[in-house]
Amino acid sequence: MDYLKNMIRSQGRVIGTDVLKVDSFLNHQVDPHLMEGIGREFATRFAGEKITKVLTIESSGIAPALFTGLFLDVPVVFAKKTASRNLDEDTFQAPVYSFTRGGEYIIRVSKRYLHADDRILFIDDFLAQGRALVGLLDIANQAGASVAGAGIVIEKGFQDGGKRIREMGIRVESLAIITSMSEEESRIQFSGDAG
Ligand code: 5GP
Repeated sequence: MDYLKNMIRSQGRVIGTDVLKVDSFLNHQVDPHLMEGIGREFATRFAGEKITKVLTIESSGIAPALFTGLFLDVPVVFAKKTASRNLDEDTFQAPVYSFTRGGEYIIRVSKRYLHADDRILFIDDFLAQGRALVGLLDIANQAGASVAGAGIVIEKGFQDGGKRIREMGIRVESLAIITSMSEEESRIQFSGDAG
């Protein structure tokens, strides 16, 4: 996924020490061709896993999750962050601490759309401290579903989420792993970079 790394390098903006803004192609404006490539890549990496459902969290996970579901030919379910009258009352719920907003919120998935015979692939835009994935795992466990792994667009390898989730025995496939980044020069280093 060199073109993903090139887009992160050329368009990403580092905020402070640990937040990366990629609003021009992933988190606000979305590049459909990039999403298509991402979906194809995750579907290839998790081929043979007999996945029946892709699970993500609204809103930034939806675009990569949707293309992954397209290429795996399975439905995509997104956990909702707010209670609303649109949502069934019978839901799986889990608390998630938000890295970007600070503070906790509840994610909810209707019991209609996750079942014990599902095999789930989690998709998310970023992996930082792993809280979002732990919340999704909680929901998958409540449903009694099995978990094939997690596909992450951008993992910040200098934070501990990747280690935490892999230590739980979950397969994590990240398309770009950032090993360091600095605000001053907006310099971003990836795992696998020379030097
Ligand atoms: P975690 O739950 O792994 O701590 O954080 C992952 C979630 O926080 C992702 O769903 C993503 O929305 C958000 N997030 C974490 N770090 C960043 C970041 O550096 N940039 C952006 N845009 N979102 C982030």
